Amino acid sequence: MIKIDSLSFTYPDREFHLDIPQLTVASGERVAVIGPSGSGKTTLLNLVAGILIPGSGVVSVSGQHVSGMSDGDRRRFRITRIGFVFQSFELLEYLNVIDNILHPYRISSALRLTRAVRERAAVLADSMGIGDKLRRPVTNLSQGEKQRVAICRALLPGPSLVLADEATGNLDPDNKEQILELLFRQVADHQATLLAVTHDHDLLPQFDRVVDFQAFRGTPA
Ligand code: ADP
Ligand code: MG
Repeated sequence: MIKIDSLSFTYPDREFHLDIPQLTVASGERVAVIGPSGSGKTTLLNLVAGILIPGSGVVSVSGQHVSGMSDGDRRRFRITRIGFVFQSFELLEYLNVIDNILHPYRISSALRLTRAVRERAAVLADSMGIGDKLRRPVTNLSQGEKQRVAICRALLPGPSLVLADEATGNLDPDNKEQILELLFRQVADHQATLLAVTHDHDLLPQFDRVVDFQAFRGTPA
């Protein structure tokens, strides 16, 4: 599903350098990414999503060479094939729950908002425990509820790859377990692959594999 080969990346200010000789994630695998703050975990997710482009090396997702696509193709690929769940949710505060979940369909011509999609959104929200809050402004939600909205939004297009950046980082322990369980269940239902950054070592046994960023030694250039 994900294949990284001889990847080298440096931010324009040249302060931080990331080298990943090789990283492979199989289809359907649930992989946790751990490592100290500042070691490049978020950078890796952005490289896999094609939000950042490596200086050299190859990032491929589902056999497609992400770093070699045009900007338009890469955006289209990301919005249709990759679900990104951010630690800070990145919800639009002026929209209610359902409009946040449907938002990717409104900003990209690569996704078509049909009645079937709206119905799937309602079913998904229900299974994530927020089915009764679809018309609620997201500003009136708890942290856990906001994260559920963000997960629904990421999953609605049926991505084959889900990237989660400390998706449970802002939640209390009970909520954490519950949200991760819901995320795992949705990922399994969608037969998706999961790459999740987490600081929570209690959650690691639930993953198939752990990738420790110590191994990549994100060092100053
Ligand atoms: P992590 O997610 O593991 O905490 P990040 O990938 O966010 O680490 O950041 C890795 C390093 O890159 C840090 O030193 C951070 O300051 C730096 N960094 C992150 N984003 C940028 C950016 N847009 N420009 C320059 N440096 C950045
Ligand atoms: Mg990070």
